[in-house]
Amino acid sequence: MYLIQAAVPVPLRQLFTYTHDSSLEHGVRVVVPFGKRELVGIVMESKPVGSDQEKAATDGTLKAVQCVLDTKPLIPDELLSLGKWLSDYYLHPIGDTLLTMLPSWLRKNKSEQEIMSLVNQQALKILPEGKDALSTIPANAKQQKRLLNALREKSALLSDVKQRFSNAVINALVDKQWAVQYQQNLEAKVDWQDKLTLGNKPIASREQGAAIGVITSQLTTFSVSLLDGVTGSGKTEVYLQVIETVLLRGRQVLVLVPEIGLTPQTVERFERRFGHPVGVLHSKVSDKKRMQIWLAAKSGKLPLIIGTRSAIFTPFYQLGLIVVDEEHDDSFKQQDGLRYHARDLAAVRAQRLGVPLVLGSATPSLETLNNALNGRYQHLHLSARAGGANPVSQYIQDMRNHPVQGGIAEHLIEKMQQHIQAGNQVLVFLNRRGFSPVLLCHACGHVEMCHRCDRPMTWHKAKRQLKCHHCDAQRGVPNRCDHCHSDSLIADGLGTEQLEQALQGLFPSVSIARIDRDATRTKDALEKRFDEIRAGKHQLLVGTQIVAKGHHFPDVTMVVIVDVDSALFSADLRAAEKLAQLVTQLAGRAGRAEKPGEMWLQTHHPGHPIVQELIHNGYAHVARGLLAERQSANVIPFSVQAIVKAESHEQYKVQKALQLARSALPPAHIISAIGPVQTLIEKKQGRYRMMLIVRASSRKALNLALRHLLSAMTASKEAKQVRWSLDVDAIDL
Ligand code: ADP
Ligand code: ZN
Ligand code: ZN
Repeated sequence: MYLIQAAVPVPLRQLFTYTHDSSLEHGVRVVVPFGKRELVGIVMESKPVGSDQEKAATDGTLKAVQCVLDTKPLIPDELLSLGKWLSDYYLHPIGDTLLTMLPSWLRKNKSEQEIMSLVNQQALKILPEGKDALSTIPANAKQQKRLLNALREKSALLSDVKQRFSNAVINALVDKQWAVQYQQNLEAKVDWQDKLTLGNKPIASREQGAAIGVITSQLTTFSVSLLDGVTGSGKTEVYLQVIETVLLRGRQVLVLVPEIGLTPQTVERFERRFGHPVGVLHSKVSDKKRMQIWLAAKSGKLPLIIGTRSAIFTPFYQLGLIVVDEEHDDSFKQQDGLRYHARDLAAVRAQRLGVPLVLGSATPSLETLNNALNGRYQHLHLSARAGGANPVSQYIQDMRNHPVQGGIAEHLIEKMQQHIQAGNQVLVFLNRRGFSPVLLCHACGHVEMCHRCDRPMTWHKAKRQLKCHHCDAQRGVPNRCDHCHSDSLIADGLGTEQLEQALQGLFPSVSIARIDRDATRTKDALEKRFDEIRAGKHQLLVGTQIVAKGHHFPDVTMVVIVDVDSALFSADLRAAEKLAQLVTQLAGRAGRAEKPGEMWLQTHHPGHPIVQELIHNGYAHVARGLLAERQSANVIPFSVQAIVKAESHEQYKVQKALQLARSALPPAHIISAIGPVQTLIEKKQGRYRMMLIVRASSRKALNLALRHLLSAMTASKEAKQVRWSLDVDAIDL
């Protein structure tokens, strides 16, 4: 009899013990009873029953493994050990961590046989007789000829052939011995090195060449390089040329891209360059396909995988390089369940495997930039655009005392009219990230501040109150500006829908396209909207964050950023960084050489250092300024943080649970805690939401403190009355 320790997908932070009549290798999947349910678990350890455990094992206290799904472990050691690391780092239950990492087929009660049938597939290939027959085949056997022609290009999976040809046609070819069926074994490692047909590549510029040289000179050890280059400067070309070298050495490559960046064009560019199919992984890929790609990557059959966040969990036969494109993008952070950051995990994986990691961005995150500036990462620059568009000229629109219609300065409305009349497009951009409504004086721009924290107060409309989200101070809404005594106090805050309506009123004969999450729920809807825009169907585009990513708008010659003040005065520490990234990314996506454009930032704070720096000196300067601020405030990335969030229909319960969490933390000289305070969205679906921010100067201290907090929360009645979560390295308030 053996004791089997299994990781099971439940919210408990432990392994569970079962009995089995033989030893099981770790990584093997088993079905185990759990309460009234049956769950798929993963064997983590297996040992013979000792004398003192014998009783428990035989008297029925321990339950037996119900069935063993795999004869040999499907999950490689590297992933199991990565899972353990993840579970420790993010303090997430091990069972849920491991099973989150796997394709859903492996999470379900699917047998090894069923899974392996995916890799051992029937295929059809042409025989020499078939090639000869092509010239003599009678004209009325059209379908047979078509299939033979297709097979002459390359052999095909029988299941694919059957979708386009009848059994009669297939059988005819086989009967005449023009084609033959065979077992295609995806598990066998294939040497695709000789099969790559390398497409034409441009001659690298001097800077590109330097970057390629640095990365390819150290392909056999771990290193991280930040490829810091403006949009269109040829970062992708650098990836492609480095990838080529890696592939030619028989090593595989993983490329991570933001959710929105994974367009058919991107995939096509890679496939064209290497003449080999790419494994594509994103949320819309079917479970079966995902399983196939997982197996093909693991066996070494697929040289290149391009995917979004969760592709970081793909197993490889021999990985040689990881690339994270647009590394600053927040979609790399999972926002529920196992709240991992794919970019950070890429660094961990690259280090464990001893391979290089390349992080690319025109607007690097402050975390990455800091690592580049302090020498932990190599900093590679591409300063010139490879071709195409010119960056737009940037201007400030001083909103103080300026007449406004529908949120837009009158001066800009006239300009918009001119651009539209000239046959161009205008993009009106509404920044919603890190949005906290503040009370603003329209005459002088003064923002009501917390006297204690020197941070802006957040305006709570329903309660007619101002609250500080850092110390919880509150006061009533004043009638006049503290600073200039004007009574024109306004609230920041306008939704995309309202904005669209207002613009339709101002431009009644113009077609407006709204591009936000609500208007473009699905990826297809979004692609379609982008196609319409490129085809010139709309003259006015109203959008949020989505438009700053992954797409170029060559006919946009004017961009209006409606409100930068809410980001300048947000309770969210990262709001200014995100604003600077957005503005820079937007500037990089509009216009083209023969149609240079202009971008306007509407603000009541034209003299604000971030606004001034952005307009005059660009992202690199702003980012360094923000880093200096963060350093003196000793916040991320100069300290580490986690956020505990809780929500409930009753606010006092949320408060109580988080208070308890706070009291479980070690003394203040090791850990600093803020809260409980409201989250940026303080109420959602009738639930009050609050958070506790926990900061520490070292990762170790944070991890230890959170373990105390977790055991207190797990044991407490108060915590059971609310919905709560722990988010290590949280990016969202
Ligand atoms: P990024 O990834 O930085 O946005 P890309 O690699 O997509 O930039 O390059 C932008 C455009 O310039 C593409 O059309 C690309 O084919 C072209 N390009 C890149 N590098 C070169 C080069 N060395 N010579 C000529 N064209 C280039
Ligand atoms: Zn004022
Ligand atoms: Zn305060």
